[in-house]
Amino acid sequence: MNMEFTPDQLQRYHRQMILRELGAAGQQKISDAKVFIAGAGGLGSPAGYYLAAAGIGTLAIADNDLVELSNLQRQIAHNTERIGMLKSDSAQSTFKALNPEVNIISITQRIIAENVAELIRDFDIVVDCTDNFAVRYLLNDACVLMNKPLVSGAVAGFKGHLTTIIPGQGHCFRCIFEEMPPDAEEPSCRQAGVLGAFAGVIGAMQAMEVLKLVTGAGEPLKNTLLIYDGLKSEFRRVNAPRNKDCPVCGDDPYITIPGC
Ligand SMILES: [Zn+2]
Repeated sequence: MNMEFTPDQLQRYHRQMILRELGAAGQQKISDAKVFIAGAGGLGSPAGYYLAAAGIGTLAIADNDLVELSNLQRQIAHNTERIGMLKSDSAQSTFKALNPEVNIISITQRIIAENVAELIRDFDIVVDCTDNFAVRYLLNDACVLMNKPLVSGAVAGFKGHLTTIIPGQGHCFRCIFEEMPPDAEEPSCRQAGVLGAFAGVIGAMQAMEVLKLVTGAGEPLKNTLLIYDGLKSEFRRVNAPRNKDCPVCGDDPYITIPGC
């Protein structure tokens, strides 16, 4: 193994490098990893924060919204002085300040069918931290077609969802929720409300799933939907096997995306 860490890196990552499941080899994998985070909001803030802190080599943050005052009770990558700034730029500054070693790329394009393949092509893992159903389905389909692991999280009210999709090894998002709900135009937490700490739980768990995938530690949440009830402090695991009739990962798929 050819692993050389500077004295600063050894100090910065000491607490995670002494974990038996990680070690120096795990840290090297984290440093080599390229992760794409869609959304710099209530989930993307904690997910990006922890991934930057852990030393992920390259982190892309995609968001085309501007920071608003009403974001700040949950979107902790931003702050009051940054109202009006692009969220992806704000998150980039925050994560860079935490860990200057991480190559952080700010992406301000909206994710659409025409650019999704190009945007995620160079990344090992995609993290869905959006609150937009159209983008959620698009990322699922693109990741399945491009064979990229996807960590998908969602929150609304006091209900949260988390699942890890590894194409070829089990289910995808459409195996569980085949079609977009008809009222899916509006972001869910805009309608239902959400507490920042609650979104933080799911976002931090998304970072955990990424770090497990990168290092090989533990078991990713594949073929499983984890449902978190924040009021009861209850986690429920629901078996979510691959659906052979799934329109993107089934036996006879028909969904295609240009470039994927
Ligand atoms: Zn599927």
